[in-house]
Amino acid sequence: MPLDIITYPKAADDERAMYLWGGAYFGIMAIMLIYNTFIWLAMRDFTYFLYLLYLTAAGALQFALFGFGFKYLWPDNPGFNNEVIIFLTPFMQLTAVIFVLKFVDIENTGTKLDKAIGVTLFILVTLLTIVSLSLPYATVLTLGHIIGLSAVTAGIYIGIKGWMRGVKAARIFTIAWLANLIFIAWYLFDITGMVNATVIGGQGIAIGSIVELALLSIAFADKINQEKELRISTQQELLEVQLDTNIKLDNKVRERTQELEAVNEQLARLSITDPLTSLYNRRHFDKVYIDNYYEAFRYKKSIAILMIDIDHFKRLNDLNGHAFGDLCLIKAAQLIRGNIHRPTDLVARYGGEEFIVMLPDTVITDALNIAESIRKAFVSTIVSEGRHSEAMTVSIGVHAEIPIDRENWEKLLKDADDLLYQAKNNGRNQVAIAS
Ligand code: GH3
Ligand code: MG
Ligand code: MG
Repeated sequence: MPLDIITYPKAADDERAMYLWGGAYFGIMAIMLIYNTFIWLAMRDFTYFLYLLYLTAAGALQFALFGFGFKYLWPDNPGFNNEVIIFLTPFMQLTAVIFVLKFVDIENTGTKLDKAIGVTLFILVTLLTIVSLSLPYATVLTLGHIIGLSAVTAGIYIGIKGWMRGVKAARIFTIAWLANLIFIAWYLFDITGMVNATVIGGQGIAIGSIVELALLSIAFADKINQEKELRISTQQELLEVQLDTNIKLDNKVRERTQELEAVNEQLARLSITDPLTSLYNRRHFDKVYIDNYYEAFRYKKSIAILMIDIDHFKRLNDLNGHAFGDLCLIKAAQLIRGNIHRPTDLVARYGGEEFIVMLPDTVITDALNIAESIRKAFVSTIVSEGRHSEAMTVSIGVHAEIPIDRENWEKLLKDADDLLYQAKNNGRNQVAIAS
């Protein structure tokens, strides 16, 4: 044991310096402890709790090492001071090991070797902690220093591995352990006289642990931040995938809807058309006619109906065959339509070889003119195909009226039909109107 004899002022100076360093150290530790406790309370992260435990153990150990425990808490128990130190030395290492294993998530990210190292260190410090009080002071400290040095080296090793893997928090983590190692080394060189003794060297372990703990706190924040970013980016990705799926679904639905609409349109068109002549069918005619009849009633306008029937069509069919008959019907439809011009007029196939024309807002004289031009069109047309050749004539009943009974729309049709038969009876190929 080296013995120094120093003057009183020098002793007073040393003591002042010791209090300054101690005050600074425990001030910083207290701030970190309070600050990180708040963070832990906010985050409720178990790993953070382990960090606090490590911080507290390191602080408590230094408290005993500085002699403050002996001075303020157990002045009558110098032996207890030793017990505190030899217990806290491995215990502090134990909290450090547990914290680091949890912090780097060795279970999920470590290789077999990493896990083996981790478990070995954990078992060693646990055993040393348990038996510390029953071993001699020097033995515990020697073993503690060996394990501590290995643990710090393992910490650096884990940090570098994480760093190389691109884990951002691993950088500061590595620097933290490296700083600790440097200060421990400096301290060891200092006390063994390998470098000139300085105040910083003499306080190497305290300074190293503070630097390390502060850097670890930053690494922790970094890690939490990175996890948050990962969470956000994962969420963003999920959102984008969802958005993409929605757009695709939307497009598909739109496509299908368009297809359906097209098919529906086609169906609707088919349901109102006569397939042979492409004219409107009777059903559609009736519907449109009634609407027009009501309107004519309402505005007191004349509405005209032409009932057209091909003469002796049965004979034409019998002589030329049904197929040629069909062709004639198609031609007949064209002839009729060719003479109807207003968009509100309506031509329909009303039965086999019977057609009907509705002329809204048309008086009888105009309707008669149209009927006459249709009749003439038939007379001057010859339909031929192959060896078949026929001229058709038509009989037309024409009637027009300003409706006086709103619901009696059938009467107008019947009147036109009656006139058609009148035209037939009068010798066909003619137009009949009410006298
Ligand atoms: P009328 O001068 O008195 O009208 O004599 P018609 O022979 O024209 O009258 P009738 O009602 O006796 O005969 C109509 C014929 O029209 C009977 C049927 O064979 C024919 N017919 C009806 N629909 C079609 C069709 O879609 N295609 C063909 N080819 N013939 C049809
Ligand atoms: Mg006929
Ligand atoms: Mg007929």
